[in-house]
Amino acid sequence: MRRLVIAGNWKMNADKKFVTDLITAIKARASGFKNIDTVLIPPSLYVAQAVQLTKDSEIKIGVQNIHQEAKGAFTGEISTEMAKDSEAKYVLIGHSERRQYFGETDQLVALKVSSVIKNGLTPIVCIGEKLEERESGNLEKVIKKQLTDGLYHLTPEQFSNVIIAYEPVWAIGTGKTATPQQAQEVHAFIRKELGIKFGSYAEKTIIQYGGSVNDSNAVELLSQSDIDGALIGGASLKADAFLVILETANKL
Ligand code: PEP
Repeated sequence: MRRLVIAGNWKMNADKKFVTDLITAIKARASGFKNIDTVLIPPSLYVAQAVQLTKDSEIKIGVQNIHQEAKGAFTGEISTEMAKDSEAKYVLIGHSERRQYFGETDQLVALKVSSVIKNGLTPIVCIGEKLEERESGNLEKVIKKQLTDGLYHLTPEQFSNVIIAYEPVWAIGTGKTATPQQAQEVHAFIRKELGIKFGSYAEKTIIQYGGSVNDSNAVELLSQSDIDGALIGGASLKADAFLVILETANKL
């Protein structure tokens, strides 16, 4: 049985007060959610504050991106080593916004995944197709390429630490969600492909769904057999909505 992992990607939102208020509200209830893992991913400037606020809880903190090198002349970047030093436990990699606005490729994703694995943190690797790729019948080809180029350099043991987030690009921040059946179909395909490459590890791999998950649609999505959690943007910024999702996941 795979444990559900619910992660909130705050993107470039929050200030100090927001961080304190949101975490305080979530923390007040999160101790009751024993069956799931809860991850909050604030902008990196607020990671230390978030770590401090969640110290006495089971909530874990992640970062939204890292540079693949450990240190050096890369102005504006942070490394996995720094994320680790700040006590973050998870790293988002290859989010579609990073791919779209910052030109991140699967080759770069592969380097970043290696950096995260080397440092013992958990990468949440985002993959997913654009609408035109789905509509032109290329969905499986696109997903397969993202998996192959981004992850297949890992050994099975290294891969066992990876979380995958399937996020159809057309469903992110748009209010359009994949139907539970559409999502399940792709998740099952991803697991089948992972099985071909990594054998029995594929059965243990956490595959999150992401794309306009909210307090109303979470139950149906999370009930699908190959959906092992959610990566949530907009709804993770609202304590009430996020808590409903956590509660829903915890009961499944
Ligand atoms: C995301 O940021 O990964 C995401 C899925 O956003 P939203 O939930 O707002 O669609």
